[in-house]
Amino acid sequence: MINLLNLTLPELEAWTQAELGEPKFRAMQIWQWIWQRMARDFDTMTNISRPCRESMAAKACIVWPEVTAVEESQDGTTKFLLRLEDGAQVETVLIPSDSREGVRRWTQCLSCQVGCAMGCTFCSTGEMGFERNMTMAEILGQILVAREHLGDTRLHWPMLRNIVFMGMGEPLLNFNEVMRSLQSLNSDKGLNFSPRRITVSTCGIEKNLKELGECGLAFLAVSLHAPNQELRERIMPKAARWPLDRLMSTLQSYSLNTRERITFEYLLLGGVNDGLEHARELVPLVNSVKGKLNLIVYNPAEGSPYAAPSHERVLAFEKYLWDRGVTAILRKSKGQDIKAACGQLKAARQKEQLE
Ligand code: SF4
Repeated sequence: MINLLNLTLPELEAWTQAELGEPKFRAMQIWQWIWQRMARDFDTMTNISRPCRESMAAKACIVWPEVTAVEESQDGTTKFLLRLEDGAQVETVLIPSDSREGVRRWTQCLSCQVGCAMGCTFCSTGEMGFERNMTMAEILGQILVAREHLGDTRLHWPMLRNIVFMGMGEPLLNFNEVMRSLQSLNSDKGLNFSPRRITVSTCGIEKNLKELGECGLAFLAVSLHAPNQELRERIMPKAARWPLDRLMSTLQSYSLNTRERITFEYLLLGGVNDGLEHARELVPLVNSVKGKLNLIVYNPAEGSPYAAPSHERVLAFEKYLWDRGVTAILRKSKGQDIKAACGQLKAARQKEQLE
């Protein structure tokens, strides 16, 4: 049985013709049912003939990830623990933001791998190690789960506004399925996310980075977290195998649209990378490309070797950068009470099961 969520639109068109003997426009009808109307049952596809629906049901299925836990933070951040078909578990997070008019919109943080091979020392997912890549059905299935939770059925101006690939896994190491997901997200007859509303975040590896820029299907965020090679080797040992100077020179020639900038993510770890000497080293790095900086205050996980930075150091760090012309935006860490940082909920649940 093929899960139809695993087919891109051209693949669905080919499958519809080959397996159902139906014309191309039928594939578009199925596509709209799956991605816009979030159908999970072929019987609900009422503009498709009964024999065609029966034939589909005999050959295909529509399987979403199963929600096994939902935790909602006081600030509205909502985390889902999802079980995939083989029993593997991943997380996805919905993060709210309110406009000046008081309209609530959401950003969803997607996972793209079960676990992660990169082993960044501050990350709960990194501690778990790598299990496997996720399929397009599993990556985009997270969006269907979130939209159902929100009751978000609007095709225009939906509640779910932005997608970030910042959950479990390194997107450039599951590039094929991430690319197919980006192509499908972009379909105006499907989920209809413009590339301007999608960010792919990498810890900064060489593989597939250039290709991501050339596809133009998402903005780029790079997890920097250290302003020099030596510190990067300490806190992100695997990512640092690609030296910082080579990462930066590749980013200098990265394909960007007009007005697009590369976002650098910088997690402030108390006493590790949050001094003014680190801010001083960051200035020429960020200014060497069309870049901006997101400062994120570390949210310590249980047993973590790192601590949160003090409020005073965070403010001094931010001010130092602004005074030197670096756009540095302090991101509020949301969902601390529900372990919203990548991998924390899964790690906590696994620990509970062992105890
Ligand atoms: Fe992997 Fe990202 Fe965690 Fe690093 S921070 S271990 S790349 S999931």
